[in-house]
Amino acid sequence: IRKAVIAGNWKMNKTPAEAKELINGIKPLVKDAACGVVCCVPYVDLPVVLEAAKGSNIGVGAENCHWEKSGAFTGEISAEMLASMGVEYVIIGHSERRQYFGETNETVNKRIRAALDAGLRVILCVGESLQQREQGVTSELVAMQTKIALDGVTKDELAHIIIAYEPIWAIGTGKTATSEQANEVCHTIRATVASLYDQKAADALTVQYGGSMKPGNAADLLAQPDVDGGLIGGASLKPQDFAAIVKAA
Ligand code: 13P
Repeated sequence: IRKAVIAGNWKMNKTPAEAKELINGIKPLVKDAACGVVCCVPYVDLPVVLEAAKGSNIGVGAENCHWEKSGAFTGEISAEMLASMGVEYVIIGHSERRQYFGETNETVNKRIRAALDAGLRVILCVGESLQQREQGVTSELVAMQTKIALDGVTKDELAHIIIAYEPIWAIGTGKTATSEQANEVCHTIRATVASLYDQKAADALTVQYGGSMKPGNAADLLAQPDVDGGLIGGASLKPQDFAAIVKAA
C-alpha cells in the first residue's frame, strides 16, 4: 500500500531568516504526522531549512534543478549540488516553470534523469490549462506529459518518483478541482504508469493533487482512492494550515 505525502511548495517566498521562522513553526505541528511531510523551498533557503529540519520527520526539497552536472549555465543549479547539501527531493515540471520559463516535456525528462542520477527523489508535476480542460484533452495531455517525463526511467527508479496532478486553473486561484475531478485525473496518471510499467508499480506510486488545497477541502480530496497526498502552495506558508492538511492525510 502506498504512502500519502503532503509537500509544501514555497515558490518564490521567504528570505532565509523568514524561512527559518516558518520551518520552525511547522516542525512541532507536524511531528506526529501519519503521512510523509516535505517542504520544497527556494535555493537560498535550503541551508537554514536543512539545518532546522535535521532529525525531524520533514523532508527537504528544492523547486527545480538543471540537467547538466556543471558548466556554463549561468543562474542554474545542478541536481548534484542539491544532493551534496543533503537535499532529498526536487520538484520538476511545475506548471509555473512550463508557463513562464519555457520548460517542455523534453527538458522535464532531462531534469528528472539528472535528479535520479544524483540520488534525489522527484515530485513531477503534470496538469492541464482551463482551455485544455474545456477542449476535452485533459486525459490525453496528462498521459502525454507523464509518458515523456518518465521516458528512460526504470521500474526501480519509479519508486523515487511522486507525481502531482496540478490543474493550472486551480493553482493560486482559490478554485479547487472537485474531489471527483481530482480523482479521475489521478487515476488516469496511475493507469498511464501501469501501461508503461505494470499494475504493481502503478499501485505503489504516490499521486498527489495540487491546486488551492486548504484545510477546508483537504479531507475530501485526500479521501479519494487515487489521491495520495497534496502539493500545497499558498497554505504551505501558514504553519497552522499546512499542519491541518497534514492531519487530514
Ligand atoms: P496553491 O496551493 O497556492 O494553489 O498552489 C498549488 C501549487 O502550485 C503547488 O505546487
